[in-house]
Amino acid sequence: MSKPKNAFEVFRFLDKSNCGECGEKTCLAFAGAVFLGQRRIRECPTLSREALERFAGEPDPRSSHEASPEDRLEKLKSEVVHLDLAKAAERMDAVFSGSKLTLKVLGKDFSVDEKGNLATEIHINPWVAAPFLSYILYGQGLPVAGKWVPYRELGGGRDGYPLFQKRCEEPMKKVADVYTPLFDDIVHVFGGKQVDKQFESDISVVLYPLPKVPVMICYWLPEDGMDSSLHIFFDETADRNLDIGSVFTLGTGLAQMFTKIALRHGFDART
Ligand code: SF4
Repeated sequence: MSKPKNAFEVFRFLDKSNCGECGEKTCLAFAGAVFLGQRRIRECPTLSREALERFAGEPDPRSSHEASPEDRLEKLKSEVVHLDLAKAAERMDAVFSGSKLTLKVLGKDFSVDEKGNLATEIHINPWVAAPFLSYILYGQGLPVAGKWVPYRELGGGRDGYPLFQKRCEEPMKKVADVYTPLFDDIVHVFGGKQVDKQFESDISVVLYPLPKVPVMICYWLPEDGMDSSLHIFFDETADRNLDIGSVFTLGTGLAQMFTKIALRHGFDART
């Protein structure tokens, strides 16, 4: 089997019913995950014999939660050359100008051109860049619904939730415990906003790693002998505006970034 050159080479073998039985919300999102090596095409139950033969010998993917953002970034860049950036900008409410699509990532401009070259005011980290490209390639561009749900309630999020807790919520809680200005930084440095306290938390802030994928961080202070706690929530549309592997990457990337910032200020949250 030769490897598919892009997600559309996978997509054309699917029945395009968007039935959701594979755990992805759309056939295009599933095709993207197959192209990125996160899923096997045989996980689609309605596959034709022709497709099964075409993809026979397909290698076992690593879990979508373990795929390296660096590997994914290179593949996604090669996909952008097949994308109509002007149409993608329209779908995702981004700006298309001078052959570049631009939108805000953590409050800063982030652009891609028709050759997949990225440009931004901030450092290009693969944990931001790979979800950014996946968002414009496969995101549906649904308006934010305003209903917050935990990672485990997103499509495809249940199995990866223990790992999400370990790599995202637990490290972020440690930062919040030792580095109290964290939430000020989120608001002032990363273009977030403090919102009315949600789920009876003591602090609730929302930040926008991607415009249609807001992330809400809720923190509960220690009280009456109870330890503090921190939980992350996503808009219920997050799994259609972004693939679940990229949602995971964003969450864990944010946790790593906050840990580094705290360290820079002399607060070690790694133990
Ligand atoms: S299972 Fe997934 S890929 Fe297959 S038809 Fe349904 S949504 Fe499309």
